[in-house]
Amino acid sequence: MAMADVTIFGAGIAGMTLAWTCLQRGAKVQIWDKRAPGAGASGGLVGALAPHVPEQWIPKKAFQLESLLMAEPFWTEIGGAAGKDPGYSRSGRLQAIADGAGLLLARSRHENAKVLWEGKARWDVVQAAQVGSWAPRSESGWLVHDTLTARLNPRLACAALVAAIESEGGQILTGNTPPDLEGKIVYATGYEGLLEFSEAMGREVGNGVKGQGALLKYDAGNAPQLFAEGVHVVPHSNGTVAVGSTSERYYDTPDVVDEQLDAVIEKAMQVVPVLQGAEVVDRWAGVRPRAKTRAPMIGPVPDTKDVFISNGGFKIGFGMAPKVATIMADLILDGIDTIPDDFRVEASL
Ligand SMILES: Cc1cc2nc3c(=O)[nH]c(=O)nc-3n(C[C@H](O)[C@H](O)[C@H](O)COP(=O)(O)OP(=O)(O)OC[C@H]3O[C@@H](n4cnc5c(N)ncnc54)[C@H](O)[C@@H]3O)c2cc1C
Repeated sequence: MAMADVTIFGAGIAGMTLAWTCLQRGAKVQIWDKRAPGAGASGGLVGALAPHVPEQWIPKKAFQLESLLMAEPFWTEIGGAAGKDPGYSRSGRLQAIADGAGLLLARSRHENAKVLWEGKARWDVVQAAQVGSWAPRSESGWLVHDTLTARLNPRLACAALVAAIESEGGQILTGNTPPDLEGKIVYATGYEGLLEFSEAMGREVGNGVKGQGALLKYDAGNAPQLFAEGVHVVPHSNGTVAVGSTSERYYDTPDVVDEQLDAVIEKAMQVVPVLQGAEVVDRWAGVRPRAKTRAPMIGPVPDTKDVFISNGGFKIGFGMAPKVATIMADLILDGIDTIPDDFRVEASL
């Protein structure tokens, strides 16, 4: 390929959504992964695009709202270019309300959402009995139903991104030999990048948090995803339901599933009884990249020229991807810097 305008290291959701966005703007892009596209945290099973609660509004929540609202056209466009469905659907979410205090809080958030979500999505309080057999166990008998939450099938989304990038002339490279450093350089190398960066800085700027999830054979159609008693249950379009996730700060093996996942599956089946007896068709473990601030770590690397980072997706990397990719492309290609202060690389140094 002719000289690249942008060279991206790491073909996870962060690297590939940025590659796609830069290609859309006419840039020449090469992206290299030392393993394969989607080989890191992005190649998992869960794929919840879920909002923060509508209260105590901060720039991070406003940013996430914008990103979630961008997701539908963003993924539709990628699916169209790829000729492959990324499995996106804004199918909403039901959350169990534990007790009376939770019910009061949920009702105040219902009012907050009207303002903070600008009428673009709802946060309603509904009776579990109205929902029927898909309702999660709820001590109070009440649930929150929000219409902002969506889902994406992580593996289908990665496959769609690969095809979309290639359809626009982007080059995806894998293997042991890194490409020549051409154009602007972006490191989107997940938790390993955060560990390497920490080593280079001589202090911890981020780390990895392992997670495990499973896939059950159960066709819930386009039913809302569920969150109850700490478990996420996410129906996908292909007759499966994902359940997750563990959160392990300390671990020996990054990609090995163990008995901690059995506990998550068991809990999901208790909380959502219709899942009892469903066959477990996949189990997976990966490591989430968590910056010191717990917010995304994006923008220029201080004291360098034309070197950038897009990392720190942590537990909401899929949900943040459309807007992170957009403002990173603004910065890299057009020099327009709208990176929120909390997200800047310096914030974690
Ligand atoms: C169990 C689990 C459940 C999750 N559920 C959700 C969810 O429901 N919703 C959500 O939004 N997020 C979820 N996440 C988090 C989400 O997966 C991450 O935030 C996101 O995938 C991070 O994407 P990334 O591209 O930054 O990193 P990765 O996907 O890890 O990509 C980094 C890539 O860089 C490559 N690489 C590393 N070093 C180099 C190098 N030196 N050179 C070249 N390539 C390199 C790796 O091989 C890898 O492919 C979950 C994570 C886990 C583990």
